[in-house]
Amino acid sequence: MQNTLRTSVRFTGQGLHSGEAVELTIHPASADYGIWFKRTDILLGDRMVPARWDVVEQTALCTRIVNAAGVSVSTIEHIMAALAGTGVHNALIEVDGPEVPILDGSAADFVRGILKAGLIKQHRPVRAIEILKPVTVTRGDASATLTPADHMQIDFHIDFEDRAIGVQDKSLVMANGSFVRELCDSRTFCRQADVDAMHAQGLALGGNLENAVVVDGDKVLSPGGLRHKDEAVRHKMLDALGDLFLAGAPILGKYTGCRAGHSLTNELLRQLFATPGAFRVVECDSETAAILPGAGVHWAEIPAVA
Ligand SMILES: [Zn+2]
Repeated sequence: MQNTLRTSVRFTGQGLHSGEAVELTIHPASADYGIWFKRTDILLGDRMVPARWDVVEQTALCTRIVNAAGVSVSTIEHIMAALAGTGVHNALIEVDGPEVPILDGSAADFVRGILKAGLIKQHRPVRAIEILKPVTVTRGDASATLTPADHMQIDFHIDFEDRAIGVQDKSLVMANGSFVRELCDSRTFCRQADVDAMHAQGLALGGNLENAVVVDGDKVLSPGGLRHKDEAVRHKMLDALGDLFLAGAPILGKYTGCRAGHSLTNELLRQLFATPGAFRVVECDSETAAILPGAGVHWAEIPAVA
């Protein structure tokens, strides 16, 4: 069955790139509605933006969606991961600025808020996108692939020069609350050199050591250090789950990311939907629904983070 929230839930914070204060509210929505954003600071014209792969604008640093009127919402990947990972299929998200608040740089606060609001079943079956044949996109030494599997799985490999990150691999079946247990508290990370370059360009103005893990060579500069030894690859998997949810439905298949980022995962979805016979939309029976990301989530399993 599809789910939505039992009640609305509000978040306040700062935009990562603008540095401005922003308020966001997730509202329940009817069955088959999907996930939509509404820019409440815009009073005239079309201010609704669908959380969908085909309105993603290519950006290096975050996932931004933009409607036909040019109205956009940026940095949607962590809230999308939280919705996917807790099994919310329908929601209207009101935001009073161009960017989702970054909060602590992870999806933990969104997950906590969603689970606190609670979910209700909507008596309509969940549709999923079943991968029928492999699809791959590559860019330089980065790649992203979807292959058939009877569950959703994310495998990721990263390889950074900075020894504080280095080479990290992780593979996870996204069932039985594994997102909430293993990924949701892992934070955005970046290198000090990139922070300096972004600030010089007027980007990441809301970024600081409280909402990102900043590394420099073999040092972790953020106070308190890492939440997991392999927090970086866990965050990349969190991003991938959020970006894949822009397919418009959960994916039944295995995603393999190698140094991949937001724009490559979006290119992968574009490739998937442009490849005849690569997928089909299925109505999930109760057995399949029970292994989707978001099934089997328990409040007690949210990591206790600072
Ligand atoms: Zn991220």
